[in-house]
Amino acid sequence: MIKFLPIGGGKEIGANSYYLQIAGTGILLDCGIHPRKKGLDSLPLFDLLENYPLDFVIISHAHQDHIGALPFLIKKFPHVIIYTTPYTKELVSVTLHNAVNILKKETAGEDGISFYTHEEIDLLVRSIRDYDYHEEFELNGLNSSCELKGCFYGAGHILGSAMVMIKADDKKILYTGDVNLSGQSIQTGADIDSLGKADLLIMESTYGDSDTKLTGSWESERVRFINDLNKIISQGGSVLIPVFALGKMQEMLMLIYEAVRSGKLTDAEIYTGGIGREISNIYDRFRYAVKRKNPDTELKEIPQSNLNDINDYNHFKKNPGYLLASSGMMLEGTTSFQLAEFLLRQKNFAVFGVGYMDPSTPGYKIINAKKNDALKLTGDRAIKVECEIKRYYFSAHANRDSLINFAKRLKPGAVILVHGEESAQNWIGYHLLESQPGVKLFSAELGKEIIVGD
Ligand SMILES: [Zn+2]
Repeated sequence: MIKFLPIGGGKEIGANSYYLQIAGTGILLDCGIHPRKKGLDSLPLFDLLENYPLDFVIISHAHQDHIGALPFLIKKFPHVIIYTTPYTKELVSVTLHNAVNILKKETAGEDGISFYTHEEIDLLVRSIRDYDYHEEFELNGLNSSCELKGCFYGAGHILGSAMVMIKADDKKILYTGDVNLSGQSIQTGADIDSLGKADLLIMESTYGDSDTKLTGSWESERVRFINDLNKIISQGGSVLIPVFALGKMQEMLMLIYEAVRSGKLTDAEIYTGGIGREISNIYDRFRYAVKRKNPDTELKEIPQSNLNDINDYNHFKKNPGYLLASSGMMLEGTTSFQLAEFLLRQKNFAVFGVGYMDPSTPGYKIINAKKNDALKLTGDRAIKVECEIKRYYFSAHANRDSLINFAKRLKPGAVILVHGEESAQNWIGYHLLESQPGVKLFSAELGKEIIVGD
């Protein structure tokens, strides 16, 4: 019998964290924070774990919504062993250190929160056990009634991202984490050839609600994006491209660089900043260790100006270029938000969205605005939109049709859908049942235990 309990995430893209109990061993799959909630509200519901054995945490990749709550978990359950890939381990170190100061600011004044320090992050990272792709590791908990093993497979999402296959006796369970089956600019698609079958598939469903025909392919979006960039640069404008510091920043930097190098895109200044530059160095360091499209190109060799050095944004009028700024959803107070406030007012400039925008974020409001709209980002003050606004679908997640094909290939007896809005899970669920009649289908819901098998 397998028990499955979502303690975060479930029917939303939030603090992803799923408890799995197999043959007496307790495994937490990911341990994220909700990206748009603050303080204690952003954490998974750890209290729900009190009556369950917990032996291991497996981290699929280093995005905050999959790792951000690790320091809190380790304070509550210090005996727990953390497993991930060596690449994710490096990224966890950079992103958790970066989060220390942000969290301190956000939770100031809240009672009962014990903060963590840089020293504690160092200890946590040192305790992580890392295994490369295809390397088997032991997963036997204190009360394990059979032998358990884990193994990582490339998930194609960002550097270090992994699906994990857990084997218990004759049962195989696959957790996809965030998965992309096709390639990006740097990242190759998920490593699915050696996976074989799975009895239980725990699968993300981010894009279940997006029609694949409308969102296009990476390649078709790339052509459209480059054409539009050329237009803005030729009229003397700059383009703000809001990106996540981990993944999207590196993918877009490589895309722009390769397009300039091949003569398809006008050569103009590339601006990057913040923690994304540090993350690019980790991409460089592991460029021959992981499968990627362009191992010979180092991101740090691409000429870039530092956004943090520019105090007066009028600079971009005289020095037009491509502004790769985080955060990806233009959250208030971030560099991309501040740049948007300036760029939106400029004729000939543009804001080009390239990733997922949650409806509750400023990014969503901006990307859905048009020229001449009066846009209210904070308070009552409205900005008259003068610049061009467009959106592109450069996804680091699999589209819904390839998720259905992926599931079909694994021939699972049961599927649990996670990491997707209700409507997204509904679409995937309906089509899964259609393509695999008889499959046992579950939709993850926060705090609701699912029992698979007997
Ligand atoms: Zn992710």
